[in-house]
Amino acid sequence: MRTLKLRREAERRLRTGHLWIYANEIEGKLGTLGLTPGELVDIEIPGKSLGVAYVNPNSLIAARLLQAPTAQFDVDTWLAQRLHAAVATRRMLGLARQCRLVFGESDGLPGLVVDRYGAVLSVQITTAGMERLRPSLARALGSIDGIETIVWRGDSSSRTLEGLPSTVEIEGVLPEQIIIDEGNARFAIAPAIGQKTGWFYDQRDNRARVLPHLSGLRVLDLFSYGGGWGIGAACAGARDVWCVDSSNAAIESVNANARYSGVSANVRAIEADAFDACREFKAGGERFGAIVVDPPAFIKRKKDAEEGALAYRRINEAALRLLEPGGWLISCSCSHHFDEISLLDALRRAAQSAGRSLRVLMRLAQSSDHPEHPAMPETRYLKGFACSVW
Ligand code: SAH
Repeated sequence: MRTLKLRREAERRLRTGHLWIYANEIEGKLGTLGLTPGELVDIEIPGKSLGVAYVNPNSLIAARLLQAPTAQFDVDTWLAQRLHAAVATRRMLGLARQCRLVFGESDGLPGLVVDRYGAVLSVQITTAGMERLRPSLARALGSIDGIETIVWRGDSSSRTLEGLPSTVEIEGVLPEQIIIDEGNARFAIAPAIGQKTGWFYDQRDNRARVLPHLSGLRVLDLFSYGGGWGIGAACAGARDVWCVDSSNAAIESVNANARYSGVSANVRAIEADAFDACREFKAGGERFGAIVVDPPAFIKRKKDAEEGALAYRRINEAALRLLEPGGWLISCSCSHHFDEISLLDALRRAAQSAGRSLRVLMRLAQSSDHPEHPAMPETRYLKGFACSVW
């Protein structure tokens, strides 16, 4: 294993437990060191080893630490230990068979996300370093109790930055129907073609907290995907639910999930842009007792911040105009570059423009199987507020 020398300044951040090494923290010119993407290296600052990392000389995040200094680094042992800890943590949460089993850096497995749907795993590898470990990873994942199929979702956009191809591969047989449940609701998952890994477990805990309060209400689920919020609400007793998503596949899955959950009579799904749908509901004089606003990340890169902030403000303003007095606004953002304070600020401005008054009843965050790494704010991305609106 070769040694990669860092500038002394890098030590402070890495000592807190952060796992990333940026290109400008490396001694010498990274491009001239002859390193290949994914290669394992020993990381050293003057006079001291910091442990083993994998590198990508073509990325701004030039290396990610895998393990503190030890006498020997064995990939299989390392993977087995980290996976064992990740699985045990989910078991602690009572979430063994339906959950996010691995959440990247937070589980000490940089560049890896694994969601579990019963006997099926949906795996996202986002770095060249993790891709290189795939044979070992396949063995380690395959040995988890009860796993029969692995779907390799190698089609996330971040792979391009790492120079990785876009592919989806299936190992084993993909069952025709994969059903998970959340409370009384049942959802069919398509791990090979659904968005991201197939399901948004990150909202599960929020749904469990908020949905019981929506019984009897008329609910609008904007950016519904498969209806996690909307169908959950119908199962919790909401009297009339509208799901809106711009994706045809999402709308078809809402309809199917409504059937599986036995709430077809109460759920309507419309394929539309959420902004347009709000305009039409307003024009038609429609009102709702609760509205969920859970859009895709409007701010993917820092430079989108201003435009994205405006989009959060606009969609929330449109939702607020449709709420009955005393209604619930459940508003979320999964943009890492848009923090809780910024979202609250967007909500405050939206309420002001809409002439409404809003109070935060609950703060929402990513589910417990998406743990936060205390040294890496990058691992905290989902935030939201459940508000009462007058
Ligand atoms: N609320 C969902 C997750 C939403 S993911 C859950 O809890 O599971 C974001 C969704 O927004 C995706 O399904 C995507 O198809 C949809 N989407 C993206 N842009 C949209 C737009 N302009 N209008 C409506 N839906 C949109």
